[in-house]
Amino acid sequence: MDSYQVIVIGGGPAGLAAAIAAKKEAARVLLIEREGRLGGILKQCIHDGFGLIRFKEKLSGPEYVEHFIDEFENLGIEKLLLTFVTKITKMEDGYVVKFVNKRGLSEVFTKTIVLACGCRERTSKQVMIHGTRPAGIFSAGTAQYLTNILGQKITKKCVILGSGDVGLIMARRLTLEGAKVIGVYEIKDSPTGLTRNVQQCLEDYNIPLYLSRTVVRIFGEERLSGVEVAKVDKEMKVIPGTEIVIECDALILSVGLIPENELAEAINVEIDNNTKGPKVNAQGLTSMKGIYSCGNALHVNDLVDYVSESGEIAGKNAAGYNYADEENVPIHYSNNIAYLIPQRLDLKSDNSKTTIYFRSGKDEKQIELVLEIDGLRVWHKHYLKINPPEMERLSLDFNSFKLNKNSRIEFSLETHKNG
Ligand SMILES: Cc1cc2nc3c(=O)[nH]c(=O)nc-3n(C[C@H](O)[C@H](O)[C@H](O)COP(=O)(O)OP(=O)(O)OC[C@H]3O[C@@H](n4cnc5c(N)ncnc54)[C@H](O)[C@@H]3O)c2cc1C
Repeated sequence: MDSYQVIVIGGGPAGLAAAIAAKKEAARVLLIEREGRLGGILKQCIHDGFGLIRFKEKLSGPEYVEHFIDEFENLGIEKLLLTFVTKITKMEDGYVVKFVNKRGLSEVFTKTIVLACGCRERTSKQVMIHGTRPAGIFSAGTAQYLTNILGQKITKKCVILGSGDVGLIMARRLTLEGAKVIGVYEIKDSPTGLTRNVQQCLEDYNIPLYLSRTVVRIFGEERLSGVEVAKVDKEMKVIPGTEIVIECDALILSVGLIPENELAEAINVEIDNNTKGPKVNAQGLTSMKGIYSCGNALHVNDLVDYVSESGEIAGKNAAGYNYADEENVPIHYSNNIAYLIPQRLDLKSDNSKTTIYFRSGKDEKQIELVLEIDGLRVWHKHYLKINPPEMERLSLDFNSFKLNKNSRIEFSLETHKNG
């Protein structure tokens, strides 16, 4: 059986960055991707705005990922395309990875695995809309694929449910394709996508955004003929009497992304209820020895630059992993933080450049992120404003704090004293 130090599952920006970082550490690396081309979801993201942090320029998705594909190929990293990983089996000193492709079923051995499987979209079933099931209901990602990759015109007049980033981008894209986007309907009282996307994709194109509203019914036999939308109250319950019927031939759903972790769950990797991705330490190591996670499989990122960064962290550390024992200290955070990564520190690892990603639970102004160790305030950072759609990133030197295995590490958001 072929043997590797690192197998990366997923050839999107996270997996590419992980494979490149591992290869640069001189590890034998294999990347497995189920599609026929590398690049992940970025292949279909033809709008610009990618890479502002990493490359200091506005790139389209394919342009951004091309940088990584070129480096990947130049390094001569082994890859298997059109190959689907079906099972991971734990062995004493590593894992057997089973996959299927046109040659049939095969197995390889690896010391470590980097899970970079990305995320998937929530479907209409997961948001419970009543009515018939005609053609014309698309997730925003499917609409993006059909429009940008297959060049199909999927609608003349549509409604978009949910104000996630992919939905906002598709509102603009379908408008540019000549479709009438009647409006974006969001059940929450604030948009769930990035502010810059609300401005550039809706406001600049006069596409209305209706907050505290949802689609409650679908009409049509073979093809969608209309949807019923209604206002909702603070508990997101439909307010009777507010229903209106809108004629349209498509409903585009942008109702959330979920990290794809079936492989991780099957081998009992501990999943965080808040991120829906694995719990990791600062090196990207999950609760299972030798299994790393990064990118949108770890948590849904809003900037691809951070996806690549987390891939690099996981890949570099997977390359040097030696099954040593860990000395773990959990990282706690208080309720007003929606989630925070990493969820623990391994005191036997270098935590001098720990990258923290977090999201607030609600919109906050003049707020401080405070770090307490054993009840003592040791660090803080002031934010003018933060809101849940915008992920925050920072780097901290945990080696500079005196930590031991009984330390209590806790982050919280506190109102700034001048706020
Ligand atoms: C539909 C959609 C549209 C998006 N549009 C935008 C956008 O316009 N702008 C933006 O900034 N961000 C967008 N995003 C966010 C975007 O996903 C991230 O910025 C980034 O692409 C995530 O990178 P990744 O490598 O973690 O995942 P992905 O790019 O999703 O790559 C994961 C890869 O893993 C492969 N894979 C999964 N399971 C297996 C398996 N079992 N075996 C083999 N291969 C496997 C998949 O085929 C895929 O190629 C979008 C996300 C989605 C889901």
